[in-house]
Amino acid sequence: MNTTGDTTREEGKKNLNFIETMVENDLKEGRNGKRVHTRFPPEPNGYLHIGHAKAICLDFGLAQRYGGKCNLRFDDTNPVKEDTEYVDSIMEDIHWLGFDWEDRLYYASDYFGQLWNFAVDLIKKGLAYVDDQPAEVISRQKGTPTQPGTESPYRTRSTAENLDLFERMNQGEFEEGSRVLRAKIDMTSPNMHMRDPIIYRIINHPHHRTGSAWKVYPMYDFAHGQCDYFEGITHSWCTLEFEVHRPLYDWFIDQLKDSDYRPRQTEFNRLNLTYTVMSKRKLLQLVKENYVNGWDDPRMPTLCGLRRRGYTPESIKSFIDKIGYTKFEAVNDVALLESAVRDDLNIRAPRVSTVLDPVKLIVTNYPEGQIELMEAVNNPEDESMGSHEIAFTQELFIEREDFMENPPKKYFRMTPGQEVRLKNAYIVKCTGCEKNETTGKIEKIYCEYDPQTRSGMPEANRKVKGTLHWVSTAHSLEAEVRLYDRLFCVENPNEDKDIDFRSLLNPDSLKILKNCRVEQELAKAKVSDKFQFQRLGYFSVDPDSEKEGRLIFNRIVPLKDSWSKTVK
Ligand code: ATP
Ligand code: MG
Repeated sequence: MNTTGDTTREEGKKNLNFIETMVENDLKEGRNGKRVHTRFPPEPNGYLHIGHAKAICLDFGLAQRYGGKCNLRFDDTNPVKEDTEYVDSIMEDIHWLGFDWEDRLYYASDYFGQLWNFAVDLIKKGLAYVDDQPAEVISRQKGTPTQPGTESPYRTRSTAENLDLFERMNQGEFEEGSRVLRAKIDMTSPNMHMRDPIIYRIINHPHHRTGSAWKVYPMYDFAHGQCDYFEGITHSWCTLEFEVHRPLYDWFIDQLKDSDYRPRQTEFNRLNLTYTVMSKRKLLQLVKENYVNGWDDPRMPTLCGLRRRGYTPESIKSFIDKIGYTKFEAVNDVALLESAVRDDLNIRAPRVSTVLDPVKLIVTNYPEGQIELMEAVNNPEDESMGSHEIAFTQELFIEREDFMENPPKKYFRMTPGQEVRLKNAYIVKCTGCEKNETTGKIEKIYCEYDPQTRSGMPEANRKVKGTLHWVSTAHSLEAEVRLYDRLFCVENPNEDKDIDFRSLLNPDSLKILKNCRVEQELAKAKVSDKFQFQRLGYFSVDPDSEKEGRLIFNRIVPLKDSWSKTVK
């Protein structure tokens, strides 16, 4: 194994976070034979969300950086909620982020036999017993953080009876919920998790991997730490809510271990995002109740949703890197994620011209039937991306909102008597408009171009305050554009437990524009290709495009900084 690894951070990043510091110390002290072995342990009961990406970047990312390994382990201890659909999607999402578990794909269910044997050992040592009481009674006897619990009347059962009952629980002899196996620890412990926790329960539901081989299933708390141990995990990172479970995990390992080695658990703060929910239960509810169009709805914080929306793995990783890992819970501003994708696409996405709400602009002094191919730079941030051609003709489309007949002062866009620049083409002066006689809606705008101001000519440098984007009516294509807004109306839909989170959904989170026009260059666009629509934002080709054989774009984020500033 490569134990030297690359123990230095990339340049420009000076501070180690507390977990990195810990790993570096462990390596310096030669702990675990200088091994760094982590795992990412999702429960296959939903799709991964951006919060999971934070755990993935740590588990896989740090293992990679320190020359270690990271296992993928599905914590499939609850057959009722789990499914292979989730298993497949989780693997796809981890790969998409750029990580790989090589040949180390495991399932907690791989260890059901070992866990069973361990439970039997605990019984034999007098450290576990079968409790016949219903769940409510067991829960009532747990006490409160300030009041000790009450011991179960079954706590003193003989080893022989416990072994017999546990075996029969697994033979399917008893009803679900009628008996459980509990660890015998301490009903007066100040840590509620140590008060004789349930470690096995009866579940009559086939498991997605083990079928109906088992009738009893280990609790997550009884599986997680031991699986880490079985796999030789050195660093077990999880979110803060598991801190109080740690003494229990350690207690189990104390009963199990036969050497000095033990996995070390360290907790970090969860990723929470403003204007969304992150709990898998709630996300599932949004999907099941059709508040969104599936797990990959581009408004969802799921990785497949973000991917479909057009987010890049790089932008997600850069966002996670920025928010960092601490011991303090916080809600992260979604604007930070948006700025990360803007930064990423700013350097990568070609600029194209598209009109979302088209109105005709007629250049009256431009020869009818003439076509000029104008040069459009693909990305001013990166010359190597070259340029493409855009056709200029007498009839164009511009954005309806870029024209005003009677504008307020300091209006720099199209208005009668005023000059504006048409990006990459000419300076034009508006001469008037034509309205629908009954509705008053503007149907055509007229202008004259100045032939001396073609882009690149000296006169083109004439000072004009507004620059507008446009497409040729004849040389553009129809497209559908889907605009997304926040999924929820409030920053933190989880804040008030008495309010149903579904009532806080933003009714205007999806707006579909059917009659948009995009420049011909986009005929070549493939699913997931990303573009900057000039002055409008970053957009990605939706998979429906391929399915339906027409152009459909998702808006990833609107633009913040661009030359549109001069006109807005
Ligand atoms: P939920 O509570 O919504 O069901 P979970 O935490 O139980 O989610 P798991 O599949 O068990 O989901 O999570 C796998 C790993 O990802 C765990 O180590 C967990 O700590 C981590 N994780 C889950 N949510 C977040 C989050 N929001 N931020 C950071 N890490 C997370
Ligand atoms: Mg969990």
